[in-house]
Amino acid sequence: MKYKIELFDSVKKEKIEFEPIVSGEARIYVCGPTVYDHAHLGHARSAIAFDLLRRMLLENDFKVEFGRNFTDIDDKIINKMSQTGESLLEITERYINSYSRDMQDLGIIVPTVQPKATETIDEISHMVQELLDKDFAYRTSSGDIYFDTSRDKNYLSISGRYQNENERESRLNSIEDEKRNIADFVLWKHEKDGDLVKFESSLGNGRPGWHIECSAMIEKHLSHKNKNYSIDIHCGGADLLFPHHENEASQSRCATGHELAKYWLHNGFVKIDGEKMSKSLGNSFFVRDAIKKYGGEAIRFYLLSTHYRADFNFSEEELLNSKKRLDRIYRLKKRLSSYKISEAMLNSVFELDNLIFKNHLLKAMNDDLNISIVLAEIDKFVSTANESLDQNKKIDLSKIAQYVKNLKCINRLIGIGENNYSEYFQFGIGDEVKKEIEDLISQRTEAKKDKNFVLADEIRDQLKNMNVQIMDTINGVKWERVE
Ligand SMILES: [Zn+2]
Repeated sequence: MKYKIELFDSVKKEKIEFEPIVSGEARIYVCGPTVYDHAHLGHARSAIAFDLLRRMLLENDFKVEFGRNFTDIDDKIINKMSQTGESLLEITERYINSYSRDMQDLGIIVPTVQPKATETIDEISHMVQELLDKDFAYRTSSGDIYFDTSRDKNYLSISGRYQNENERESRLNSIEDEKRNIADFVLWKHEKDGDLVKFESSLGNGRPGWHIECSAMIEKHLSHKNKNYSIDIHCGGADLLFPHHENEASQSRCATGHELAKYWLHNGFVKIDGEKMSKSLGNSFFVRDAIKKYGGEAIRFYLLSTHYRADFNFSEEELLNSKKRLDRIYRLKKRLSSYKISEAMLNSVFELDNLIFKNHLLKAMNDDLNISIVLAEIDKFVSTANESLDQNKKIDLSKIAQYVKNLKCINRLIGIGENNYSEYFQFGIGDEVKKEIEDLISQRTEAKKDKNFVLADEIRDQLKNMNVQIMDTINGVKWERVE
């Protein structure tokens, strides 16, 4: 069964039906990180939000092309170069690797394309040249090239902003450079004495401005060349709507003659204890630290539990509550693992119940990623499954197979529940302690074999004191950490 897909478009400011440019295909672009530092929670939130969008479209049988860039030319990177004496590549590679590791731990599907600005210089130069040729851009006496916002009558149509004449005049007078209009922005920074970073290009030596990087990368990797729009959906954090997305849209419109994206989606901010996260407030913390402490999946589950458009208020207490909800899914997975279900059985099981469950989830996801309904459906399923396992000692295996299928569906749609349940419940225990625990378990197994039950019980107690619970199962002895 097909449900229609509705998404909240930031330009039209309402929920509208998603109708792809080409039937059955979706091309999506998300503005990625500027790689001068490790990723913070805001990056994680944005990545998870649009990973859900991608999974939803995949589950609706779309062929999805998904691009997310690395901004690897930027003043912040150049500042870091002068502070540390490292090269551009040393810095950007380090943070690209760090970001990619974080994304992997958060269960984000790897994008189809991950372009870098440094590898897009030719396309950037080409686009800037087109803007110059069509008189949408101008060079100042210092050689910098600016976009002339007054030449685009649709400028501000993305953000819906309005600048009155007085505001324009007063702000224009206060700036010292040669911009024609206050909103004009740099496309190409001409080489200056002592510049640490410059690229050779047909425009002369220099480096691109930030906004043009995204437009050129979309044009190179994702764009429909002869349609009304380059791509279907452009995504990013709410703080990017203006000026970044406005400027991207404007320069693409003027250079290519068609609109950049048919739909614009923005995710809300991450606040920490009620305050907007920012480096200057000192409340911006790295995803890596959170992953180390709680595990990537717990962070993912927590961050996806609030609707992507709403601001997210991060608190450690709520994270722990959210983790309990996730624990329930893994406890069910563990219970189900004590039944032997073959792939053949999974494939042959009567589909109806599973289909109903899947359709409930999908219907909610298709409604602008309505995650609270999805999570409520999951809670309901977990409770029902547990109840029927409690009540029926000799439960029908086809029922078990359905439950297993439902868990797989949850996994595909929201990227939760993929891990091995033993590992999940062993999270936070170092390798050395793990080895110690496993040695004790082998000693206990030996003791039981020798019918030395006193020793076996002693070892069990010793493990209990280490907060480790052991279970004898049909798949051998399992253990998990208990609080
Ligand atoms: Zn961008």
